[in-house]
Amino acid sequence: MTTPLTILQPEGWETPQTILCILAHPDDPEFFCGATLARWTAAGHTVHYCLLTRGDKGVREQTADPVELARTREGEQRAAADELGVSRILFLDYEDGYLVADLAARRAVARVIRLFRPTIVLSSDPTQLFGENNINHPDHRAAGQIVVDAVFPASGNPLYFPELLNDEHLDPHSVNEVWLAVTGQPNTTIDVTPTWEKKIRALHHHVTQIGDMAALDERMRSRRAPESTPENPKYEEKFRRIKFR
Ligand SMILES: [Zn+2]
Repeated sequence: MTTPLTILQPEGWETPQTILCILAHPDDPEFFCGATLARWTAAGHTVHYCLLTRGDKGVREQTADPVELARTREGEQRAAADELGVSRILFLDYEDGYLVADLAARRAVARVIRLFRPTIVLSSDPTQLFGENNINHPDHRAAGQIVVDAVFPASGNPLYFPELLNDEHLDPHSVNEVWLAVTGQPNTTIDVTPTWEKKIRALHHHVTQIGDMAALDERMRSRRAPESTPENPKYEEKFRRIKFR
């Protein structure tokens, strides 16, 4: 018996998509959904990144210089994105750790959505307060809130932030779908077994964020889906998917 195509390709996309991944920090795309992004670029879809911060507080050393760190992390992010076949990266330069879902941020992201005109927007679930044994970073929650508020209704409605249309000629744009990673309410599971090693290779570029590469490899390779066997490991990434059309 052959497997139905819908199971092999749960996205159900029949034409190449433009996917804009909007997240808080350099390394979020790779940790949250890197194997899915690699799967999409390999399938011929176009993936762009918009990072709201440069991750300038992403270390614990007291001597860290945030300007130097931001520069380093931008380079790490570009190398990791190259590994996954990402086309363009835009940094919005909000200060790491202080991201707030205010109107100015919503406007900035609505502007980016109108500029890139993606069919799919990917971000993180703003309602995810806790992980199993951790607190979800406030920037991850704020980024998700900013993005969903920008997607609906601001980016698609000409009466929101009218200066975008009047001054910059950025026509309203409505996306087809939103995908939210880091969610406690997933409704879509992607089998990313073929691109799991690519995700790990991309993560290796985030040198400032990873103390022990070997430990990271071990941790990532142990994240097997329940139906895995030792001979046939299986990996998945999960999302909350909202399809508008
Ligand atoms: Zn992060």
